[in-house]
Amino acid sequence: MGRTRNTVAAKISRAVGATCQFALLASLLSGTVSAQDFNDRRKVQFPTQVTADNPQRTPAVARKQGFAGTLVLTGGRIFDAVKSEAYPGSLVIQQNRIVAVLPAGSTDWPADATVMNVAGKTVMPGLIDMHVHSTYPTPETPADRQASEGHATLRALRSLQMLLENGITSVRDQSGPLEAPYIMSEWLEKDMAPGPRVFAAGHIVTGTGGHAADRPLTPIHSAAYTREADGADDWRKAVRETFKLGASHIKIASHFAPDEVKAAVEEAHRLGLKVTCDCETIYTAMAVEAGVDSIEHPLPRTDATIQMMAKKGIASIPTMQVYQGGFDTRGDYAGTASRRFSMNSQANFDVLKKMIAAGVIIGVGTDNINAAFYSTPNIYIADLKFLQKAGYTPAKALMAATRVNAQILDMGDKLGTLEPGKLADVIVVDGNPDQDLDALAKVETVIRNGNIVIKDGRLYVPRHVPTPLAKPSPPDTLH
Ligand SMILES: [Zn+2]
Repeated sequence: MGRTRNTVAAKISRAVGATCQFALLASLLSGTVSAQDFNDRRKVQFPTQVTADNPQRTPAVARKQGFAGTLVLTGGRIFDAVKSEAYPGSLVIQQNRIVAVLPAGSTDWPADATVMNVAGKTVMPGLIDMHVHSTYPTPETPADRQASEGHATLRALRSLQMLLENGITSVRDQSGPLEAPYIMSEWLEKDMAPGPRVFAAGHIVTGTGGHAADRPLTPIHSAAYTREADGADDWRKAVRETFKLGASHIKIASHFAPDEVKAAVEEAHRLGLKVTCDCETIYTAMAVEAGVDSIEHPLPRTDATIQMMAKKGIASIPTMQVYQGGFDTRGDYAGTASRRFSMNSQANFDVLKKMIAAGVIIGVGTDNINAAFYSTPNIYIADLKFLQKAGYTPAKALMAATRVNAQILDMGDKLGTLEPGKLADVIVVDGNPDQDLDALAKVETVIRNGNIVIKDGRLYVPRHVPTPLAKPSPPDTLH
């Protein structure tokens, strides 16, 4: 029986020239892809295909990027986020890729390499923040500019630069107005400004009157920031619209009905995008049941939901610091009209502890927003320290901040560790952050996509190289 199916599959593959869709169908028939995976484009890999360095994984033409030549960081400690122990060694970068991690004593690099001595420092993968709002208003933003696309784009340039200066080389941007988040994503993917890689959700999809579309109505609770959707068909359409705008992933928020969240997740997965949910109580249960990929924030959820998250491999981005900060100053969660629950500091921390005990995948994100950008990197270090308080070693917290985050982004093969072939997003820290998280306040050098962008307390932007003058147009085209 299996042999017959394989024969059918092989015939289909040959007949259609093994185009993706039919190869997938063939895989389904041969039993190598399950019926469920057939509805999830991400689950089918084509390893021979060169793909873009972003989660959409569209076919890509290799471009010359990064350091012009070979760059070596030597004399320091390597924390590669594969092993939990740091070790002495050298990191070799060519253009925008890591090409080797050499043991101490080896000098196996070209004679013309640029060599940086990093004695006494730790070389590690760039940090990833899974939850920021780089385009949101800062305290100085006039109310009538809060929903401005242009103002939001410029705000993001400044906020993202603050993150880069502190060693954060990738972010998942979790909502912002109109096309501003997508513009930032495209701009920074091409190294056209200093900043981290931006994996952008764009607007939040929520039910009418849901989170970020609820009272009190303000510019940031308006149609510029959210796409309200009602009914399963409209939720499906909202996902397609968000895909069309250029989203790296889909961000949904409570409230919704079970068939609405199910339709959104199904549609996003068919399009090859992950879904993350900002939700609480019964909505978290619905989202987990529907198969979202991650849940944002601590927020209340039942023990059964936590167990189901662990069983299904649904990650958590706890964003503890901003919530604990609210509890410490106000004593409770300051809910909006759509958020009708009570929570305190201890209950919040207990959710994190229960998730860790259940084996839920934990990523690292800050919910960095508004004036909080000015406290970078303290807000990031504070979030890592909550993991430490809940039982993580500093090294394990750093692995969550790099390797685990990259996996949640669907970028585990390109980011998150120091291994040959990975993109060269690398930081040099003065101290041992794998033993003392406070050392992350002393990020000295930042290499993003192979380019040295932060060094000696300065931001480096490559100088424009003039192109030759264009040849004059033929006379018959002049007018
Ligand atoms: Zn947020």
